Amino acid sequence: MSAQIIDGKAIGAAVRAEVATEVERFAWEHDGARPGLATVLIGDDPASAVYVKGKQKACKEVGMEGFSFPLAADTPREEAVALIERLNDDPAVSGILCQLPVPDHLDGAELTGLIHASKDVDGLSAISAGLLALGRPGLRPCTPSGVMHLLGEAQTELEGAEAVVVGRSNLFGKPMAQLLLGANATVTMCHSRTRELPNVCRRADVLIAAVGRARMVKADWVKPGATVIDVGMNRLDSTPPKLVGDVDFEAVKDVARAITPVPGGVGPMTIAFLLRNTLQAAWLARGARAEVS
Ligand code: NAP
Repeated sequence: MSAQIIDGKAIGAAVRAEVATEVERFAWEHDGARPGLATVLIGDDPASAVYVKGKQKACKEVGMEGFSFPLAADTPREEAVALIERLNDDPAVSGILCQLPVPDHLDGAELTGLIHASKDVDGLSAISAGLLALGRPGLRPCTPSGVMHLLGEAQTELEGAEAVVVGRSNLFGKPMAQLLLGANATVTMCHSRTRELPNVCRRADVLIAAVGRARMVKADWVKPGATVIDVGMNRLDSTPPKLVGDVDFEAVKDVARAITPVPGGVGPMTIAFLLRNTLQAAWLARGARAEVS
């Protein structure tokens, strides 16, 4: 039997619609003030410019303020630091995002680390990572939060489930494992030096692949009835160019209970949860209880 296809596009759109409704409630309760997202883009990397433009557009679509700060590629460290500090102190700015990578003379981790934890809507600073590891409230990284939401929408039982995360990046794999642990799954993290990776994956009730290797996860790596989440985004040099995930979707969909496609699975969740985090940060700044953990 073919798996349930988890429709990230529709689920992401529903999250955005909920955020848009909440933004109106926020504005109504705060004399028209709206949550605001500040994006800092340093340099002229074309892909980064496209991502930032998409984030700003998404902000406007849900009724939030967007503040865009494009800085030249040779911006001195002091100037970038001063901008982030100024945004930390600006009450109109609920969330700050420093688009990575930054030019070589700057340190992306340092700049991200300067963002106040209450405005760290990417959830990637050391403080945000620490709060997550300790199970304390904080802003969580967007893509792993989006995956948790997809798992919920696909009615995936996490309590006591065997969850395997392939990939241990700070951006995705590590926070993903922490969120699953927080939901009482039994979590195994795999990486490039994991032995017998197919066997480890086959144990999983929930298998999450975030590697960056096209169609690496084969059908015989997947336990029948598992939920499979494909985070990978790999561009194939075909004509026309094709985007594929880390999972061999066509074969795995006949084994899994539920699976995300690429594109249209995890991808749309990242911006949806960036907006949700910005809204959460805005509520927190006004002393209100945020509705998401
Ligand atoms: P990353 O920082 O490059 O990390 C890749 C991870 O995969 C590393 O932990 C690496 O292990 C592991 N790995 C590499 N080859 C492996 C192998 N043969 N077997 C097992 N593990 C292996 O990547 P990332 O930032 O986490 O992103 C991973 C993928 O997800 C990319 O395709 C990226 O584009 C995509 N992504 C998508 C979204 C989205 O949809 N919005 C968001 C984030 C990431 P080592 O640590 O041992 O090197």
